[in-house]
Amino acid sequence: MRNSVIPAALITIFWLATFSVGCRDKKMNSNGPNTSASATDPLSIHQRAIAIDMHADTVQRVLDEHVDIEQQLSDGHFDAVRAKAGGLDAQFFSIWVEPQLFGGGGARAVKRADDQIAAIRALAEQHPETWVLATTAADIRRASNEGKIAALLGLEGGYAIDERLENVKRYYDLGVRYMSPAWSVSTSWAGSSGDDVGATRGLNEFGKSVVREMNRLGMMVDVSHVSDKTFWDIVNTSTAPVVATHSACRAIADVPRNLTDDMIRALAKTGGVVNVIFYPEHLEPGWSQKKKEVDAQIATMVQQASDAEPGDAVHKKLARDRVRQREYARRLPPVKVSRIVDHIDHIVKLVGVDHVGIGSDFDGVQITTADLATVADLPNLTKELLRRGYTESDVDKILGGNMLRVMEAVQR
Ligand SMILES: [Zn+2]
Repeated sequence: MRNSVIPAALITIFWLATFSVGCRDKKMNSNGPNTSASATDPLSIHQRAIAIDMHADTVQRVLDEHVDIEQQLSDGHFDAVRAKAGGLDAQFFSIWVEPQLFGGGGARAVKRADDQIAAIRALAEQHPETWVLATTAADIRRASNEGKIAALLGLEGGYAIDERLENVKRYYDLGVRYMSPAWSVSTSWAGSSGDDVGATRGLNEFGKSVVREMNRLGMMVDVSHVSDKTFWDIVNTSTAPVVATHSACRAIADVPRNLTDDMIRALAKTGGVVNVIFYPEHLEPGWSQKKKEVDAQIATMVQQASDAEPGDAVHKKLARDRVRQREYARRLPPVKVSRIVDHIDHIVKLVGVDHVGIGSDFDGVQITTADLATVADLPNLTKELLRRGYTESDVDKILGGNMLRVMEAVQR
């Protein structure tokens, strides 16, 4: 969202004012030294916890819009300045190959993935004061201790392995630590929740060999976007914990991208984690239908913006998305961070607090929640968790502790 920087700054000022006063009061009321007073306010708890966001699409902005995410940007959802303000310790960057633009395999898909990986590696090399290129839980802990942000890589959709098993290891060697077999378009070897083919397609034999190769190497298998059939094939094939990097609960928001209660139970049984997405369409009941109606209302406007853009197919898509961003914000009801916590609550009630985390999908969606509009607002999630009665230890697990555990279990 484009107007989110000022609210984020105001929220930060409000927090600092509120909680610095709160701490002084506690200290004045105590008879002796009170070292715990400042440690129990939400912002301190948030800053102390290791926060890991399992999914953001920012690297495509770096490539296609040439944004410098070292600087605070006036648009989008993520940059290093706002990540630090939001107390983020680790970001998994989604290496996303859009099959409609780059092919569902082949040289262009491979190059698109490789270019994104190179962009993140270059970022870490050029700004070692900000970033640590990370592949393990220990790397994340080290980055956090040094006050830096760990940059990690996840492949969204298996298009770039180009139906070759040896390419799984190639991407592992380049630093990729999770992969989802399919994004919204099915591959020959894995069905997607986003197309008709996926309704009947799970993993074929090659798909199962991909999962086993990921297990062998120590790459996490991501079920976000896959079809129901593929989900069950993954859970029944994988010998390591399975994750959903950016999904939510179908029991609350009934969209095919979300997980049913049975799926959440099965995923938890593998030892894995459901990382809750921040996207209103997957969070708010009925929002998806309303979005379809808005899409129909703005179709001409979107097409005109695309036609007026002189650049290539990627830039035409950016032009379309800019119209969607503006019109969704105007025409669709705002969704609050409390709705994210409803999904977290639902998962905790089903399988306990050890199997839930966060995966924002920042810069991969045209609209976010009103009070968690960018990464700078992340403390608002902790505030809401604490308000609902979660303990500091619970918050540690939800923000990143559970994913650290899974990474340690999966790595070889
Ligand atoms: Zn996605």
